This record gives sequence, structure tokens and C-alpha cells, in this order.
Amino acid sequence: MPDGDASGLTELYQELILDHYRRPRNQGSLEAYTRRVALANPTCGDELELDLLLDGDTIADVRFSGHGCSISQASASMMTQLIKGKKVAEARALAVRFNEMLHGSAEAARDKSLGEARALAGVAKFPVRVKCALLGWNALEESTRSQP
Ligand code: ZN
Repeated sequence: MPDGDASGLTELYQELILDHYRRPRNQGSLEAYTRRVALANPTCGDELELDLLLDGDTIADVRFSGHGCSISQASASMMTQLIKGKKVAEARALAVRFNEMLHGSAEAARDKSLGEARALAGVAKFPVRVKCALLGWNALEESTRSQP
């Protein structure tokens, strides 16, 4: 890929990350929830609480709240957007994929099923920020661990 294209992509991705940080999707908490998990990333000071409303094995609704760096909050926002309405197993498969991307898998970074979350692929180059990007996804994995 020519350099021009690559930098253009990065700029677009940075805008997308900032957009999710400034206008988080599915932010707040659910009055009725099936699962609630709170996680923190002490190295950066990120905090996150994730609420899931399950209808059988489908994620009927999802909200997150928290505070921290733009990567952690944008990643959680993108994650909620992706998993809403999906089966628990599909959402967990996305979390595995996202983990692979954050650990440098170019194949995962090209996987369209990750949607806007692919904007965070570049975080793989900054090991100290990987934990920020994974916080919301780890909350998803933890909150769905014992699901059928
Ligand atoms: Zn962070």
C-alpha cells in the first residue's frame, strides 16, 4: 500500500476513535440487566462498567459507563455497537478476533466483522495501550463467561 493511503487511513481511524470518545454509543446503564461487570485498568486509570440484557442467548441490549483515556472509552463504545443484537457466542468470537488484532494479527485487522473497531488495529504497536483497548472487551468476555 502506498504511504499516502496508509496515512490517510490512520487519520480517518483517529477521527473515528475521537468521535466514539466524544459521543459514546450505548453509554449509561440498564435498569434491568442480566449481567453487570465492572473492570479497571490501573496502569492507565481506566474504569468501565458493562451492563448486558440477555434474551436467551441473544444480547438484547447493552450499555457501558466509565471514564478513562480515549482508547478505552472509544473501544468500549465500538464494542457495544458491534455486539448489540448478536448471539452471545458471536459476540465472544468477536472478542477473540479483537484480541488477535490487538496482538498484531494482520488477518484479524482485515476482518470486516470487527466493523469500526478495526480503527484500533494501530494500538497493537503500543503495548502499554493494548490493555486500554481490551478493557471493554474483557468485560464482555467476563460477563458472558458462563453463558450457554
Ligand atoms: Zn487507557
